[in-house]
Amino acid sequence: MQKTPRVDDATNRRLWRLVGPVVVGGALAALWGLWGVASRPAEFAGLAVLTLVLVGRGFVTMEIRIRSVSDVITPTTAVITLAAVFLPAPEMILGTACGTFLSHLARRATDPTKIGFNVGKDTIGAAAAVGAATLAGTHPILQNPASNPFAAIPGLFAAFLAYMLIDELVAHALFSIITHKPFRQLLFAHVDVRIMTRLGLLGVALLTVVAYHISQWLLLVLPPLAVAIHLAFANKTRTRAGNEAWQRLAEATDEFNSVDQTDVLYAAVRRATDIFSTDQAEVEIRSPGGDSRLVRSNGQEILYDGPPADAPAAEGYLIPVALESYRGDGDLGQLRLRFRGSGPVKFTEREQYTLRTFTAALCTAIRNAATFAETQRLADSHARAAAQDPLTRLANRRRLQQYGNEILAGQAGVVGVLLIDLNHFKEVNDTLGHAEGDRVLVAVADRLTAAARPGDLVARFGGDEFAILLSGLSAPAIAELRAHAMLDALAPPIELDDMRISVEASCGVTTGTAGSVGELLRRADIALYQAKQEGQRVVVYAQARDTADVGSLTLGGDLARAVAEHQFTVHFQPIVDLASGRVIAAEALTRWHHPDRGPLSPDRFLGAIERSGQLAAFADAVLDQALIAVTDWADAGYPIPVAVNVSPRSLLDPSFPDAVARRLGARGVPSSSLVIELTESVTLSKLEVVDEVLAALRDQGIRLALDDFGTGFSSLATLARVPVDELKIDRSFVSAMNASAPGAVVRSTIDLGRSLDLLVVAEGVEREDQRQQLWELGCPAGQGHLFARAMPADRLLAHLHRGEGHLADPLHDTGAVIRMSRSRRARRMSLGSAEPPGREKST
Ligand code: C2E
Ligand code: CA
Ligand code: CA
Repeated sequence: MQKTPRVDDATNRRLWRLVGPVVVGGALAALWGLWGVASRPAEFAGLAVLTLVLVGRGFVTMEIRIRSVSDVITPTTAVITLAAVFLPAPEMILGTACGTFLSHLARRATDPTKIGFNVGKDTIGAAAAVGAATLAGTHPILQNPASNPFAAIPGLFAAFLAYMLIDELVAHALFSIITHKPFRQLLFAHVDVRIMTRLGLLGVALLTVVAYHISQWLLLVLPPLAVAIHLAFANKTRTRAGNEAWQRLAEATDEFNSVDQTDVLYAAVRRATDIFSTDQAEVEIRSPGGDSRLVRSNGQEILYDGPPADAPAAEGYLIPVALESYRGDGDLGQLRLRFRGSGPVKFTEREQYTLRTFTAALCTAIRNAATFAETQRLADSHARAAAQDPLTRLANRRRLQQYGNEILAGQAGVVGVLLIDLNHFKEVNDTLGHAEGDRVLVAVADRLTAAARPGDLVARFGGDEFAILLSGLSAPAIAELRAHAMLDALAPPIELDDMRISVEASCGVTTGTAGSVGELLRRADIALYQAKQEGQRVVVYAQARDTADVGSLTLGGDLARAVAEHQFTVHFQPIVDLASGRVIAAEALTRWHHPDRGPLSPDRFLGAIERSGQLAAFADAVLDQALIAVTDWADAGYPIPVAVNVSPRSLLDPSFPDAVARRLGARGVPSSSLVIELTESVTLSKLEVVDEVLAALRDQGIRLALDDFGTGFSSLATLARVPVDELKIDRSFVSAMNASAPGAVVRSTIDLGRSLDLLVVAEGVEREDQRQQLWELGCPAGQGHLFARAMPADRLLAHLHRGEGHLADPLHDTGAVIRMSRSRRARRMSLGSAEPPGREKST
């Protein structure tokens, strides 16, 4: 038996504690035999026969592999038992030693330890057998041929038992040491088959003794008989081992029936060590994504689970098997069976077949687990997506509400909500395109995230609306400071490919210590609305200003009816020559008299109109009312032009210029009496259609004004691109002016207008000192509450009548040192005659 492999130190020591005594014992027994044979006339014939038979049995073997060792089963029992009763002890022992040694040589065994052990074991076994036979009173039959054959039977039994005992104990002790399997487990494995086989061989020995007594020739029949018994045993063992293997394979594939990769891999390595009787088994799975994984087990425990690169080195003889399906496709990785020692370990055909089945089943299981994991990942990512804004990867409204409610429920400090809305973002989107708009939003998201503190949650509510939930504030007032900090973070211009866009935003702030996030959001929304209305950066929610009317409106549904039923009316705000107080134009500002909500300002409904598809009809209705008013005023002797605001989206509509021309024609109004106010970002668009629409309007003789100048994204670039006739300084700059510092934007816009020969109109003039200051800076015109609010056309006409075209007293400018450019002087002259500015150009 045994291929003795290389083993580790502890095992080695245990091994030598067994092999040493066996070799020494065997050698001593053989020497004793040699001395016995040499000291008297020897039975050389018997010795030779025994030696030959033992050499011959070397070819009638059957191997049972246990891990890397093979149990080689032979019919030696019969030979030894017989020899013990036929031969004198010295010949018997010496013959066994020689025969066993030579049979190893015949089988080309080379490992001296292995040969020494096996020879030693059989020699000791032979000595024990012959000793037991002698004790049982048997005399060697070869020397006492006449004796009664049945007299040999007790000796036969004794020899059989003695040899079997030595053989079983010593051989299994060795197995146990090498394979690390419990001694008892090995001893009792297939014990029934082994005992039956040995008894069969004992029967052969008995028959031999009887046959020998009858005729020596009968002995010739016996070797075939022994071989037949041996083969029957071998067959039985093999069948049984096969059945067992299939049973265990079935159990293993059952265990593979899990969707968890870890379960599958652990079952695989544990089962593989068992089924294929290996010392270790490992599975390495490769995934294209890079997360390869290696799991290793010795059958009892998992020795390693992790990236293959970090696995401790393992020694031994290796049988690698690719993890592929029956069809041989899909290389998922490798199953590796590892044996102690340098091998080689050969698998029987059945084992190879089992291995193929095993790997195929494992392959399927790994694939199933991967599919399941992927499904799981998708489900997770869907869950994440449900809580995440896909563009900026910020939290969405739902997530913020959930997080906020958790915080409100669990924490003592103040919770703040900042609602931030970008100014003019809609125009960016409409005109620069969605891709650029998205880039701006992502940049804004990044900046807000960078400005946030741990515990804050930054969310995007869609569009250009962002919310930040502040937790654990020490005082409510902190929230406002944080709001300013957030807006400051947005101030530096955002670089897009070839332009810099400066983003401005408004922020509504509210704080609370209890209640729902929903309520906090509602309040922040109101504060934000107020901030936008008042042109302020940050407004903190105040209970006193919270009226039901200001709540978020869902006007979309009412629009169609509103357009159809002319619920929109247009009011007019006069534009005044700052010096003389004379009305030089009027801006049309639309109001919606909502049947339930009363009058609504444009900021509340313009977005809804643009989204609703009613924009063209709405714009046409506004234009029509503006043109009716212009006609009335002109008829009454006040031929002032009207300025109409247009939505950026109208400029994307190629039919817009024609629609305007048709309206002008229908009302008989000269195009020079119409000014179209553009928001500056509109014109930044690289879209040809915008250029074409603007060109077509100008070709008709319609004047263009750049509204909200200075607040947008790239004022100067716009001016270079679009030839406008007028600049309107945004009212936020006017309201920010003070006596000592008029503000760089106001000053530079006025200078710019002067040098480009454009009319400059200051918006939001509310106080006399602003009017004075603007005029001193060289601004020719203004509009604002100081002169008049927006009002119905007929009321404006009444005002005009009352003041004979004036809305304010002239400034007392005598003595003021003002240098006027020639163009401004010219314009003032034309204004003085209440002619529309630039009329001389268009006629
Ligand atoms: P805008 O073109 O900048 O119009 C000026 C806004 O400032 C008007 O608000 C006006 O009522 C307000 N305003 C005028 N003087 C003063 C002042 O001294 N102090 C203050 N605080 N505010 C003053 P309104 O009417 O609410 O219009 C808001 C915006 O809605 C307008 O801003 C304009 O862009 C847009 N809009 C108005 N009507 C139309 C329209 O028919 N079509 C389109 N597309 N947009 C319109
Ligand atoms: Ca305007
Ligand atoms: Ca404006």
